Amino acid sequence: MAAMVSTYLTPSSKPSAAASPPQFAGLRRSLSTSHSFFHSVNSHTLRSSNRPTRGIVAMAGSGKFFVGGNWKCNGTKDSIKQLVSDLNSATLEPDVDVVVGPPFVYIDQVKNSLTDRIEIAAQNSWIGKGGAFTGEISAEQLKDIGCKWVILGHSERRHVIGEDDQFIGKKAAYALGQDLGVIACIGELLEEREAGKTWDNIVIAYEPVWAIGTGKVASPEQAQEVHVAVRDWLAKNVSAEVASKTRIIYGGSVNAGNSADLAKKEDIDGFLVGGASLKGSDFATIINSVTAKKVAA
Ligand code: PEP
Repeated sequence: MAAMVSTYLTPSSKPSAAASPPQFAGLRRSLSTSHSFFHSVNSHTLRSSNRPTRGIVAMAGSGKFFVGGNWKCNGTKDSIKQLVSDLNSATLEPDVDVVVGPPFVYIDQVKNSLTDRIEIAAQNSWIGKGGAFTGEISAEQLKDIGCKWVILGHSERRHVIGEDDQFIGKKAAYALGQDLGVIACIGELLEEREAGKTWDNIVIAYEPVWAIGTGKVASPEQAQEVHVAVRDWLAKNVSAEVASKTRIIYGGSVNAGNSADLAKKEDIDGFLVGGASLKGSDFATIINSVTAKKVAA
């Protein structure tokens, strides 16, 4: 890490850690409540996917391993130039979908300099078409500049900025309707329900708030337990097919040292990474932790 210190971005602010541990036992009970993100999303028909099934063994779902880097509100033109250069020269396993989320103002710079191997996510989008909404960015604008994804429902948007499930659900539904992929973040308070038609463009990120930016990573067993519960919920409330193909990724203090152990768990289909995505070599190690799945049978 030392050699890269001048080249990566220093996170400027982190949410404070929640004091309490995750309430895994409560998750199933909370899953049956009404209205919200999934409900809004389900009212939209999404494009279908021809995602191939892979030969990776320690994986309950059929979706490709997925690693997203959320750069949050960090960076300068220079530091981002260096980070992009590090990512462009990193050797990445082929069977991983890789996405990075720069701040809006640097998306164009990143789009024009980053390898096509890595797709770009925005960190937010508006609930509908653009217009008189000062400070907002529309899904159409994101598509116009080449974004394929948007991160929605991140705990910092929920707990620092105050977005609720319903608002996030509207954003997700609109973004999906515009053919953007959505990285939908959920925490311990998942309160969702009811079936949808297609979920092909949704990646669910389980991010315990106490683990985000705190250095306190969930144990592989803790994360696996929640991922199984989410997949179970999808199977019961949506369909077995959706449960199988939806990527359920983990976020919260993932780093180059702990990603392989997490990746070995069969319901962990990838990662959403904050701090460690700001250092190219560490992010590449996390992406390549897909290899841990291949030997974990
Ligand atoms: C995040 O903010 O989504 C996140 C997972 O951050 P970190 O990896 O720094 O905990």
